[in-house]
Amino acid sequence: MNHEPVLIIGGGPAGMAAAIETASCGFHAEIFEQAPRLSGKAWDYGCKADSECRNCNVCKVRRMIRTVRESPRIRTHLDSTVFKIQKRQHGFTVCWRDEIGEIRDMTSSGLVIATGFDFFDPRLSSRYGYGRIPDVITSAELERQLHSSSLPTRISDGSIPRNIGFVQCVGSRDPRGGAPYCSQTCCAYSLRMAARLVHLDPDLHITIFYSDLQSLTPETDHLLQNLNPRIRLVRALPAEITKLESGRLEITTDSDAGAIEAHEFDTVVLAIGFRPSQALRESVLDIGLELNPYGFIQEPAGSGILAVAGAALGPMNLAKTIDQSASAVARMLALKRANI
Ligand code: SF4
Ligand code: SF4
Repeated sequence: MNHEPVLIIGGGPAGMAAAIETASCGFHAEIFEQAPRLSGKAWDYGCKADSECRNCNVCKVRRMIRTVRESPRIRTHLDSTVFKIQKRQHGFTVCWRDEIGEIRDMTSSGLVIATGFDFFDPRLSSRYGYGRIPDVITSAELERQLHSSSLPTRISDGSIPRNIGFVQCVGSRDPRGGAPYCSQTCCAYSLRMAARLVHLDPDLHITIFYSDLQSLTPETDHLLQNLNPRIRLVRALPAEITKLESGRLEITTDSDAGAIEAHEFDTVVLAIGFRPSQALRESVLDIGLELNPYGFIQEPAGSGILAVAGAALGPMNLAKTIDQSASAVARMLALKRANI
C-alpha cells in the first residue's frame, strides 16, 4: 500500500467526509482548513427540528467533527491557508501558510479539492435594501443570531419580531445577475426554518415570498403539505423593500393580475444563493481542472490522484455534499489502489 496521505483542501462537510472516507479505506488524510475550526459555513447552522426532526443533517456534521478529531489516520491543519497547488509528475504539491505565518508544503499523489462555495452578496440586489436597512438580514445571519439566542431579534432595536418575511431566490435563478441556476437548498431551508421559528414562538407569523418551490426533501415536502397556519406562502417575489416611518419594513409585490400589494414586517430574511468559491481559482485551473459556465469546478475524469468534492462542484445540500464527497473519494482511492 502507498503510504502517502491524501491531501484535502477544505475542512467543511465535504472535506471532513472526504477525510473520513479516506481513513475508512486505510489511507491517511491531511486536512487544510483556513478557519480556526472544522465544519466551514455549517458551523453557524443550527438544528431545524420543530415538533420532530426535519433531517437537516446539521447534527451529522457535528458528529463528523468528532470522528475527524478522534481518527488516528486524519491530521488537521487549522488556521492554514493554502495559497498554491502545483502539479508534479506523479501528484501535487500543496503550499500553505500556517497560523504563525510560516510557509510550508507537502507533496502527495492524492488530492481532494473541497473548497465549498461563497454566498451571494445581497448588496448586489439593491432593491431589497440589504446594507441600508438593518432589519433586512440574510439567512446566514439569521443562523448566526440563533447560535447565541433562542429567538431572532431585530438588529435595529433588539425586540423580538412578530412578523417575518422570507424572500426566496436572492441571487439565484437570475440570468441577468449571471446565476440562472437554482441554489437547490434555500426552499427547503426556509420551510424548515419557518416551521422551527413558529414552533419556538407561538406569537410569530411568517410569510415566504417565492417564485417556485424546488428541491424539497421528503421532510420539507411534508411541512409544505401540512403547513402551519401561521406560515403563509405568497407566490410573488418583492419588487422592493423599504423602511416605513414606524420602523417596520414594507415589501411590495406585483400580483399576477398586475395589482401592487404591500405587506408589512418587523424583519425580512433574504434566502441568499450559492456562488462559486473564489479560493484557489488560479491553482485549480493550473492543475488542469475546468470550470462550468457558472464558475463551479467540473468533476474531473477518474484519475486516482484527484477528486473534487461537495459544493465546489455546484449547489447542493448537506446530505448530498456528504454523500457525493465520500463517493468521489472512494472512486479515487479505488483507482489509486489499482495503480499501486
Ligand atoms: S437532523 Fe437536523 S433537525 Fe434533525 S435532530 Fe439533527 S440537527 Fe435537528
Ligand atoms: S431552492 Fe428555491 S429559493 Fe433556492 S434558488 Fe431554488 S427555487 Fe429559489
